Amino acid sequence: MKAIVIGGGIGGTCAAIALKRFGIETAVYEAVKEIKPVGAAISIWPNGVKCLNYLGMKDALRQLGGNMRFMAYKEYQQGQTMTRFSMDPLIQSVGEQPYPVARAELQSMLLDTYGRDQVQFGKRVTHVEDSADSVTAWFDDGTSATGDLLIAADGTHSIIRQHVLGYATERRYAGYVNWNGLVEIDESIAPADQWTTFVGEGKRVSLMPVSGNRFYFFFDVPLPKGLPQDRTTVRDDLQGYFAGWAEPVQKLISQIDPQTTNRVEIHDIEPFMQLVKGRIALLGDSGHSTTPDIGQGGCAAMEDAVVLANMLQTNSLGIEDALLRYQEKRAYRVKDLVLKARKRCDVTHGKEMAVTEQWYEDLKTETGERILSGMCETILGGPLE
Ligand code: FAD
Repeated sequence: MKAIVIGGGIGGTCAAIALKRFGIETAVYEAVKEIKPVGAAISIWPNGVKCLNYLGMKDALRQLGGNMRFMAYKEYQQGQTMTRFSMDPLIQSVGEQPYPVARAELQSMLLDTYGRDQVQFGKRVTHVEDSADSVTAWFDDGTSATGDLLIAADGTHSIIRQHVLGYATERRYAGYVNWNGLVEIDESIAPADQWTTFVGEGKRVSLMPVSGNRFYFFFDVPLPKGLPQDRTTVRDDLQGYFAGWAEPVQKLISQIDPQTTNRVEIHDIEPFMQLVKGRIALLGDSGHSTTPDIGQGGCAAMEDAVVLANMLQTNSLGIEDALLRYQEKRAYRVKDLVLKARKRCDVTHGKEMAVTEQWYEDLKTETGERILSGMCETILGGPLE
């Protein structure tokens, strides 16, 4: 059996690693010559960590992950703590801890695990053709590749999605802009072992530790889509959006490097239940594009990879049957994650300001129990308990 994997991001590399571990021949084709991830870092929640453990990256991941033991929300003007609690009850319940990691390092770990020289870079798929017993991907250099199945891990702008669904999907603007990057840890901004989030005015400023004494930071601001992006004004823009916010936030803005700070307009796609067509499977953002509000997009891609490989390995009724079983296992799970993230997004970013204000009030009486039990439920919905 030969699988063609389109896309060498988180989803594509995890799928290729998973299939390879079961002895399935894989070939990965990636559009760009060098992968430059869109964001600075990513939080891998225990459901994603378990998938990477399962795929043989347990020790490597621990080297990259930040030590995130506590969680705190702070009020935006004075920086007073609204709630602070240990993440240990979550870790105890689910059996693994979360790891925030720098994206470039995650990508490197995945490519090294699979075999960097086995990925064909600069191969952009233009279209695919499937028949009863094979699938062919055509590239923009005029070449093609044929296999027994094709895994479309070509991201949120997937061109293979339309072939599978039979219609074009729209990306939906979620209403806010996210700036993110990495900065050296400064404990006068936030503790080094804590996920700290300042909230107010429907905006947020968040810091998570990653390895190498760095914070992954992000700023969210509800804004119209399509405003000009200019690296030279990043600091001024953030100072304007966060005028009157507490001293640690001002300090963070003064310490970021505008040249390496990313600006992303956040989108998702209305969930759909069809993830496969014949011998083609959508995996990762091509099959489910979510806002990052519960940090589950990449984790879901890791889950997809594990489930798809297991379906191919454990069933003997043929590829199409295995892919249908993959769809059956994944469609409700990923729909749930996208909709949960959308709901969280709206509350966090002031879609209805009264609801957001109530959330700020609720945070003042939060012991950690409600937040951690919500996270627990999401995490335990994954394929590896
Ligand atoms: P991608 O990472 O987009 O990879 C797709 C790959 O396919 C790319 O390398 C691309 O070049 C290639 N490609 C595209 N078109 C073609 C083509 N035609 N031919 C060949 N190759 C092609 N998730 C989490 O789990 N935790 C988080 O904390 C988190 N935070 C996030 C923060 C932000 C600001 C954003 C935007 C997302 C966040 N996510 C997070 C989501 C996560 O980044 C994505 O879900 C994840 O990257 C999806 O991986 P993927 O492989 O499906 O797609």
